[in-house]
Amino acid sequence: MNILILGSGGREHSLAWAVMQNPKCDKLIVAPGNAGIAQIADCAALDIEDGGAVVTFAEENSIDFVIVGPEAPLAAGVADRLRDAGLLVFGPTAEAAKLEASKSFTKEICDAAQAPTAAYGHFTDADSAKAYVRQQSAPIVVKADGLAAGKGVIIAETIEDAEAAIDDMFGGAFGGAGAEVVIEEFMQGEEASFFVLCDGTDVLPIGTAQDHKRVGEGDTGLNTGGMGAYSPAPVLTDAIAQKALDEIIKPTMAEMAKRGTPYQGVLYAGLMIQDGQPRLVEYNVRFGDPECQVLMMRLGAQAMDLMHACAEGRLAETRVNWADDHAMTVVLAADGYPGSYEKGTPITGLDDLPEDSFHMMFHAGTSEKDGRIVATGGRVLNATARGTTLQEARDRAYAMADAVNWPQGFYRRDIGWRAL
Ligand code: ATP
Repeated sequence: MNILILGSGGREHSLAWAVMQNPKCDKLIVAPGNAGIAQIADCAALDIEDGGAVVTFAEENSIDFVIVGPEAPLAAGVADRLRDAGLLVFGPTAEAAKLEASKSFTKEICDAAQAPTAAYGHFTDADSAKAYVRQQSAPIVVKADGLAAGKGVIIAETIEDAEAAIDDMFGGAFGGAGAEVVIEEFMQGEEASFFVLCDGTDVLPIGTAQDHKRVGEGDTGLNTGGMGAYSPAPVLTDAIAQKALDEIIKPTMAEMAKRGTPYQGVLYAGLMIQDGQPRLVEYNVRFGDPECQVLMMRLGAQAMDLMHACAEGRLAETRVNWADDHAMTVVLAADGYPGSYEKGTPITGLDDLPEDSFHMMFHAGTSEKDGRIVATGGRVLNATARGTTLQEARDRAYAMADAVNWPQGFYRRDIGWRAL
């Protein structure tokens, strides 16, 4: 099978790595890819949000199966264009991708599906949003409706802060994403991520994870794209996972199908768990980054068969071959991230790292320049390892991170603290 993966981050490197383990893969192209991906697959420059260009590229390269990594091409309808052209694709339509692209849409679906989530109000003008907030108690959560790269969520400690956030959003701080605002009850509890595949009808769980969003140790400091993750998430016990499936995920998928917009692809449910009860924080319509890295490390070659079965609507007859293992990824980021940081700094020591089914250094923001690997992004590398215990996975991941020579980079030393 000839496979095309769209994307360029650590997530896509781990997807490419899993696909390459599978003997059914004859050829793999990743567009646009990065320096680490280029070591295991062909990379091609391509505007992955231009559906027409992606279709042409896939046809010219005799691609049999397309895996879409990030949300932007999905929200832009790239999966629709590929399907219309008769290509097999893993990833939802633009309409189904609204589960991530519009928070008010997701809330409305939750209402219809009676899925447990935070109480909310949805507003298109500042005055009514503020009037609503004044009737609530703090802390309270103010969210730009659209995609804002994880930055459009303000947890306001006071009603005054909430009103200021409302003014900012309607004042254009998040562009078009803030033209509508969702205000939510603040949910207490512990967060975890639950990943399932959906083929429009059936749902297949493929793992749980927890990540660390804050830049600083002890989960302090600014929010980032994610500084590390581990799988499984101990807080998501089998009983709570089953509740999340029965009360949240399956009813959501049934509601999408009922509306004539069935969901196909990976669905990432961000859950808040308190007193054994899961509630939905958000859906994402793609794998998380860095959560994907730990899931791929655990699933290995079967990940490709699972995604392929999902795209072909065969999940009812598909099983996951579970191993009793743990995985962790530690993100190496450029000094200054998530603020401004230097680009082009050289990284050495990568060639000496172990690369096997227990260890992988997945690349995110790297390029090759004059035969050397240089950092070109904020989050740059993902030291990812597997073990029979979380402690073993952690020790292996940190041994890899410690062996990298990159003076302009840093990483958190406490990934997994909650679970250990
Ligand atoms: P990201 O891209 O980082 O996942 P997002 O823009 O899609 O973020 P959400 O996931 O809805 O936004 O919110 C970001 C974070 O804010 C959540 O992971 C959670 O920690 C916190 N959060 C959001 N809504 C609530 C809520 N109602 N109660 C408590 N915390 C919340």
